[in-house]
Amino acid sequence: MILVSECLFGGRIVRYDGRACEETDSRFLIWKDEGRLVPICPEVFGGLSVPRMDAQRSGDKVIDRAGHDVTAKYEKGAYEAVRLAKESGAVFAVMKQNSPSCGSRCVYDGSFSGKKICGQGLTAEYLRKAGFIVFGEDELDAACALLDDIEKCDIRRCREGKSND
Ligand code: SF4
Repeated sequence: MILVSECLFGGRIVRYDGRACEETDSRFLIWKDEGRLVPICPEVFGGLSVPRMDAQRSGDKVIDRAGHDVTAKYEKGAYEAVRLAKESGAVFAVMKQNSPSCGSRCVYDGSFSGKKICGQGLTAEYLRKAGFIVFGEDELDAACALLDDIEKCDIRRCREGKSND
């Protein structure tokens, strides 16, 4: 199974601005058709509404546009995402870039000026701390290569198991 940001998966509106941003890459859609994807929205898990005020990472905290510290809700969602990743047996995650929860390489810089910096969202950070590899939706080449490797290993292990019977 592959953990994915629910806004990439589509079907339910979960983004802060109520807009859709479904992933349309054919490889992602094949995984979806094959039933490999586990969609999660950490911010909805954290109890936030749709739509909601946008928020950005600011050091270890997450602060919304009005200046409220919303870190606790983002942490709650991140813990739930890690729990579901473990429970579903996810082999890695593909998460929405730039999000204060799901961003895996880039996030907004906390100034609400539209500037992005290298960094990760809280859920991506917690997933990595729990040992999961996290890709952005802009890294599907690498995600596909890893899935190929994992499946080749599984086939090899299966054959080796049979030859030992
Ligand atoms: Fe998408 Fe993640 Fe934001 Fe939810 S928290 S809307 S899954 S980017």
